[in-house]
Amino acid sequence: MLGLMQDWPLLVHKIIDHTALYHGDREVVTRSVEGPIERSNYRQIAARARNVSAALEARGIGLGDRVATLAWNTARHLEAWYGIAGIGAIYHTLNPRQFPDQIAWIANHAEDRALFFDIGFADIVARIAPSLQRVEFYVALTDRAHLPDVKIPNLVAYEDFIAGGSGDFSWRQFDEHTACGLCYTSGTTGNPKGVLYSHRSNTLLAMMACRADALGISARDAILPVVPMFHANAWGIAFAAPMAGAKLVMPGAKLDGASLCELFGGEKVTMTAAVPTVWQGVLNHLQETGKTLPHLQRVLIGGAACPRSMIETFEKKYGIEVIHGWGMTEMSPLGTLNTPTAKTAELPYEQRLDSKAGQGRPPFGVEMKIVDGNGRELPRDGVAVGRLKVRGPAVAKSYFRGEGSGAFDGEGWFDTADMGTLDADGMMAITDRAKDVIKSGGEWISSIEIENLAVGHPAVAEAAVIAVRHPKWGERPLLVAILKPGRTATKKDILDHLSGKIAKWWMPDEVVFVDDIPHSATGKIQKTALRERFADYRPPDAERTG
Ligand code: ADP
Repeated sequence: MLGLMQDWPLLVHKIIDHTALYHGDREVVTRSVEGPIERSNYRQIAARARNVSAALEARGIGLGDRVATLAWNTARHLEAWYGIAGIGAIYHTLNPRQFPDQIAWIANHAEDRALFFDIGFADIVARIAPSLQRVEFYVALTDRAHLPDVKIPNLVAYEDFIAGGSGDFSWRQFDEHTACGLCYTSGTTGNPKGVLYSHRSNTLLAMMACRADALGISARDAILPVVPMFHANAWGIAFAAPMAGAKLVMPGAKLDGASLCELFGGEKVTMTAAVPTVWQGVLNHLQETGKTLPHLQRVLIGGAACPRSMIETFEKKYGIEVIHGWGMTEMSPLGTLNTPTAKTAELPYEQRLDSKAGQGRPPFGVEMKIVDGNGRELPRDGVAVGRLKVRGPAVAKSYFRGEGSGAFDGEGWFDTADMGTLDADGMMAITDRAKDVIKSGGEWISSIEIENLAVGHPAVAEAAVIAVRHPKWGERPLLVAILKPGRTATKKDILDHLSGKIAKWWMPDEVVFVDDIPHSATGKIQKTALRERFADYRPPDAERTG
């Protein structure tokens, strides 16, 4: 017998309709790419999104068509997302930090029919336009006065594009499983792979994100997503903030410490989210200027492991709560969030900090297990390290056009390729990405744990631990570090700092100081590139022991 409740499809335009109706005057503030701060609200965003839908339909775009965006977080970008999704077309976020050839490859693979872009990316678009086989027209996210003077075919300014609309376009109706958004993962192995979100998965994810033990978003919040909309679905914030009626502050192209702090203060931001490297810039700025952030209550830090020392600085020095989170593009992307349980909330502060450095617990809607090399489930004891597998209604079940099918098994589990521990309360801690693990004498060394401790040294700005080949032990850890400007430290200083905090055999054999560490397009340390750089490196005792 089926239940007798209404079939109310979970469509993302219902989110913008809800917020336009009940939080219509709630502000959406943008640091525009043209320069000035611009103010809009959810009522206007919803009406202008309907105009995007109408203009796209007028050009023949409809159900299932991919429409690319190459843009920072702005109100116009948000309108474009809802407008594209509102006719059953698919917003496809391109990452401007990738090489132009990669961007073109991805746009062609997705068969994008149109491309919306920020004027700051006009040169990239002009360069790749000749090779974009399917793109029929280009929309510069600006007004006519700021239209860039570049050679791009069928180019129109966004404000002209939507000018004919009257804000009353009727969203199209379709099944909640209809594709809504497309985002390619950076593809550290093989070609990039497309993750195709549905209306249902995006709506459920927004509900998950709003929960008190997740991002805890309420109508009183003012949220600044530093995480770009092109990075893993903006971590759900583009849907969760309007769903809750929270004010949105869009930072545009300026993600440096000074620019962000100006918006945090000026717009009374209460909650924000970004990768650890961004927070390093913010903390440096606060340190240099002596400023504080009195309105900011919570920062979500994820995308890469957040060092314990960073959590401590935010909390002790600035009174700002850190929510450490882990996720993946394939998980829409929320996987775990580290908020206290009744048990951990009662721990002494230092132990609570230890607990917060873990990646957190899965919310309802994320199932998780760890397995050994043969796929056998390992105990949830907080000790066994295994390959992390996940499933849930906002987790991918396949990649776009069937790529990378090996990551999905017959029981619906997705293999994250992350290694970690799970405990009986659901607390998960990542030790490494599977391809980055260091296996020394048959045992694993966690590069993430050593890195997090190393950046706790006052002179270290950034640290990466990679495996180098060793004739006796197979692999040994090499610590590569960047020092903070004006600071000095020796190998001995760093090793003394680590001493007593990790097992002796985890101690890096060498500490190499460098001027730069390569980062990926999503701001993560590129260990593959580092391993190549140090491919010929031999540990100091290799000759003797070999
Ligand atoms: P990309 O690989 O393109 O950067 P993702 O953002 O999807 O794309 O990256 C997800 C990966 O980032 C995870 O599989 C994990 O390895 C890493 N990651 C994300 N958050 C954390 C975290 N809090 N701690 C450690 N690793 C993390």
